[in-house]
Amino acid sequence: MVLDEEHISNILAETGEKPFRLNQIRRWVYTRGMVDFHQMSDLSAALKERLAAEIKPLSLEIKTRLTSRDKSTDKLALLLHDGQMIEMVILRNLTGRVSVCISSQVGCAVGCAFCATGQGGICRNLTAEEIADQVLLARVLLKSEVGSRKYEVGSTKSEVGGTKETLPSNVIIMGMGEPFLNYDAIVQALDLVNRRLNIGGRRLTVSTVGIVPGIRKFASENLQVNLAVSLHSVDPEVRSSLIPINDTYPLPELKAAVENYIELTRRKVFFEYIMLSGVNDSFADAQALAAWLPEDLSHVNLIRYNQVAESEFDPSSPEVIAGFQKILQDKGIPTTLRHPMGDDIQAACGQLVLRKGGS
Ligand code: SF4
Repeated sequence: MVLDEEHISNILAETGEKPFRLNQIRRWVYTRGMVDFHQMSDLSAALKERLAAEIKPLSLEIKTRLTSRDKSTDKLALLLHDGQMIEMVILRNLTGRVSVCISSQVGCAVGCAFCATGQGGICRNLTAEEIADQVLLARVLLKSEVGSRKYEVGSTKSEVGGTKETLPSNVIIMGMGEPFLNYDAIVQALDLVNRRLNIGGRRLTVSTVGIVPGIRKFASENLQVNLAVSLHSVDPEVRSSLIPINDTYPLPELKAAVENYIELTRRKVFFEYIMLSGVNDSFADAQALAAWLPEDLSHVNLIRYNQVAESEFDPSSPEVIAGFQKILQDKGIPTTLRHPMGDDIQAACGQLVLRKGGS
């Protein structure tokens, strides 16, 4: 992704190589997920040496990789050039589809009460290349496991899936950080992922806690990218206690921004709702949520809470979640229940980096 194409072109000119070599290198890296120049069999030995010495296709490297017991989920701590670390999660389902959850910042300033990342504060923004490189890294890893990784998912223990895709089926910017507090970089990164890795906008999702100016700007970008909004409660006090930025961008402003987005883009908005026992999971909460949602093009994702050590929150029981979901569905609201994957590897955002500094 961070192929410095100008630098590569200079190397080609200096070594007397034809300019079309750049296309060959692009194909190796972006299409085939190969980042080791020595393995690029159609390049001369001298060119491989020079490229390997001067060009780094990836701006990050794997520090830690944890795989869940059922082998469906990988959680990676990634080391950046300045020693900072971020997280990425790769989730596979039984059909062989793969979702990748990537980060947009090192740490996060928002400080959501249920989030491990928020407990550590913000360190810095990621560059567009650092954001996009997470997707390239996922492609490199998926390429290496095609046909070889067998896994089970959740309770479907009798069925065994296997990695089939070399491109992530979905990319979600929902890892460490608030994407709309690093707006320009995420828009550039989406463009890089779209153009260079050829992943269509419909397979890309930006997830925000509700940064109203970001939602309004995003609505006018003319991108075919999905928007997800972490709602978690429509009670102002409860939401502020979970997401402090609700005081800055209260629910009426958030709703107006989302409705404006829907009106301009005619795209569905995904509302994320983490199910916390006794906090936001009563049937009255479900009724209030149904009443709050924009009438058109709303989709709710209910998420079972992945408990952070020493957290004040507990996950809602499966029975409560099922009842909550039924209330929404009975009102005609499309609602998906997200099953937690990788509970055994701290798959919730921020947990791996906070744990022993990611080592
Ligand atoms: S949930 Fe997202 S926005 Fe909230 S603190 Fe964690 S990383 Fe930041």
